[in-house]
Amino acid sequence: MAIPENIEDIRKRITLAAEKAGRDSASVRLVAVSKTRSISEIIDAFNAGQSDFGENYIQELIPKLDDIHEPVNWHVIGSLQSNKVKYIAGRVSLIHSVDRISLAEEINRQWQKLDKVCDVLVQVNISGESTKSGTNEDGAIQLVKGCSNLKNIRVRGLMTMPPFFDDPEKARPYFAELRRLSETIAALEISGVEMAELSMGMSGDFEAAIEEGATLVRIGTAIFGER
Ligand SMILES: *Cc1c(COP(=O)(O)O)cnc(C)c1O
Repeated sequence: MAIPENIEDIRKRITLAAEKAGRDSASVRLVAVSKTRSISEIIDAFNAGQSDFGENYIQELIPKLDDIHEPVNWHVIGSLQSNKVKYIAGRVSLIHSVDRISLAEEINRQWQKLDKVCDVLVQVNISGESTKSGTNEDGAIQLVKGCSNLKNIRVRGLMTMPPFFDDPEKARPYFAELRRLSETIAALEISGVEMAELSMGMSGDFEAAIEEGATLVRIGTAIFGER
């Protein structure tokens, strides 16, 4: 299927999953994961009404930032090296992958130069798999507290990537655990911290993620085809 039809199909599935969970489908935002995709594919999706795009690699994102003039919201969803932060300062809407205080400090420093505030999510490695980035749960609480002292960063919620399963039901407990953690952190009432967003769910498991409370689903393959 073509990109616009895929987007329409995904939007319908998002609405159904939200309704099944008794949620307003407007509380779930679709982030089209455009890594490895061309600028024309991204514009194709944009013209089909898609405005949020996620990229993993800064060296791939920079030319897209430079060459796409449509009002796109860019999301950084991949592991981020501190020395790359300066290239994206002020140019992205949300960084989903903050997993250490040194990275948060560098984001704060670069956004401070622009007198702007960067919205971020703390990435949590719920499964503890060594191949996945993210902090553990205690580390996430400490990191959120650390970020709350940085004036040019605003923590908006949490992100996770569960292990890969063929059966999306197997991913569900990891989504539920991220939601529980976000409720635990919200109850701490850390100043300046909002637990408004849960970034979880990809092409194979986004419906389960929405049923467990996802507000941002990151979908690549189901929109653009196999990479
Ligand atoms: C690639 C990627 C996605 C999208 O995965 P699909 O299975 O293609 O939907 C989502 N989140 C992250 C962090 C990714 O790296």
